[in-house]
Amino acid sequence: MFFHSKHSSLLSLRVIIIGAGPAGLTLARILQTRGAENVTVIERDVDRYHRPQGGSLDLHNESGQAALRAAGLHAEFMKLARPEGEDMKITDKHFSILHSEVSTTPPGPSPIFGTMFTRPEIDRTQLRDLLIDSLEPGTIRWGTEVVDIMEDPQGASAGPYVVRVRPKVASGDSGATARASDGRDGLALPQDNSGLEHLYADLIVGTDGAWSRTRSLLTPVKPTYSGISFYDITIDNADTTPLTSSPDYPTVGALVGRGMLISLEHGRGMFAQRNSGGRVRIYANFAVPAEFLDMPENSLEGKSDIKAVNAHIASLFPDWSPTLLELIAANTNPVTPRKIYALPVGHSWSRPPTQPGSAPRAAMITLVGDAAHVMSPFAGEGVNQAMADSMSLADHLSWAKYDGQLERAVVEFERAMFQRVEPIARETSDNLVMFFLTEDTPRSLVNMMKQYESWWFLTKYMAGKVVQGVFGAKH
Ligand SMILES: Cc1cc2nc3c(=O)[nH]c(=O)nc-3n(C[C@H](O)[C@H](O)[C@H](O)COP(=O)(O)OP(=O)(O)OC[C@H]3O[C@@H](n4cnc5c(N)ncnc54)[C@H](O)[C@@H]3O)c2cc1C
Repeated sequence: MFFHSKHSSLLSLRVIIIGAGPAGLTLARILQTRGAENVTVIERDVDRYHRPQGGSLDLHNESGQAALRAAGLHAEFMKLARPEGEDMKITDKHFSILHSEVSTTPPGPSPIFGTMFTRPEIDRTQLRDLLIDSLEPGTIRWGTEVVDIMEDPQGASAGPYVVRVRPKVASGDSGATARASDGRDGLALPQDNSGLEHLYADLIVGTDGAWSRTRSLLTPVKPTYSGISFYDITIDNADTTPLTSSPDYPTVGALVGRGMLISLEHGRGMFAQRNSGGRVRIYANFAVPAEFLDMPENSLEGKSDIKAVNAHIASLFPDWSPTLLELIAANTNPVTPRKIYALPVGHSWSRPPTQPGSAPRAAMITLVGDAAHVMSPFAGEGVNQAMADSMSLADHLSWAKYDGQLERAVVEFERAMFQRVEPIARETSDNLVMFFLTEDTPRSLVNMMKQYESWWFLTKYMAGKVVQGVFGAKH
């Protein structure tokens, strides 16, 4: 049961959300739709387009899409989404197509099942815009960085928290840090504290991503290198960028298709993904030590000759099909090197129990999304679980059974999140091994996709029979 009325315990709860990524924005939106009037999102980027937001994300029915339904934004999402983005080709390094999936024609929600069996794609920028534009004006404090978090010395029963922020930082790392009142993370405050603003919060939610500073208030665990590094390449105008090596694929767009082209061999892989606006994004992945991208020959520091960069990246795929390598050669944009980090599977934290007889905590800190459980992208679950976390936290805060019991609501939310995410993080980690580290890749992936397809087909068929049965019985 939800409280939607003006008497909701959410109404007066002072919530500070640190980070305006999909997790923080989804949480802010759902809380506001349920009556919360005191929600602030702190974001260190100076505006929404301060830096490129990355590629396309597929939102799953039971998590990302469910959160958008809870946020009242699903219909708007479906207008922007690309159901045909679910198309997928899997090839080996010789460009032999081993598996091909084409989403239903015409693509989109089925008349019977709606979006139940869909995982439509949306660009991250579009998703973020959708969420940002849905918030009450002034909810997001752009260009603001958290300096530290302390318990209010005047506050009763361990709360509220004081969040000291530095407004209007240009960008990047100012040396600021979050610090528990007992100084647990041991990092020093900046010397010069002038110009800091004090914000008061009953609930602080760290949605500050993989390198969350808020996390240090709850756990010392940090993400570790996953073993995979990649070059992030974007090709504009894919449908008019010519390719010459195969008459079947006259353009980059024709080769990649409407969705994803995955090409793999042991230790390396290319993921080419259709984005909106005729763009294609290519992730050129390598199973390598963490230093690989910093080695002089692989580092892109100071290298502005894009053709030379393309040629070097292509040289890291020896014996690959010229058709696939031509994709890299077609790039005309600067390339970004990235390393994939992840928290351990099953990562969780606990709090010291409150002393017997003492009142429950009146102020809480928790984590949501990548801050809580950053994982590799190889199951396409990161953003979906981040948004599911936000929906779940909003539910726990608005359920009548926790009314006025902030500590119980947050602890129960965390327990549910740990349980939900652990098997997904395990699957993601297993997928990384299957994609890059098994000798028979990409056969292992193809076999998994075929099994998945049979299961999917059977489920759809059975559900269809049930619907037919109900329909038939009524008429
Ligand atoms: C290459 C790649 C491909 C991916 N593909 C997929 C995919 O296909 N499907 C999928 O589900 N997931 C994918 N993911 C994962 C997905 O992007 C993340 O799981 C998702 O963005 C997590 O959302 P978030 O809001 O928790 O964190 P983020 O999106 O990281 O947002 C965190 C926000 O916090 C802000 N911030 C950080 N520190 C501070 C601070 N101190 N003060 C104020 N603000 C701060 C940041 O500027 C940022 O805006 C991919 C990730 C990568 C790297």
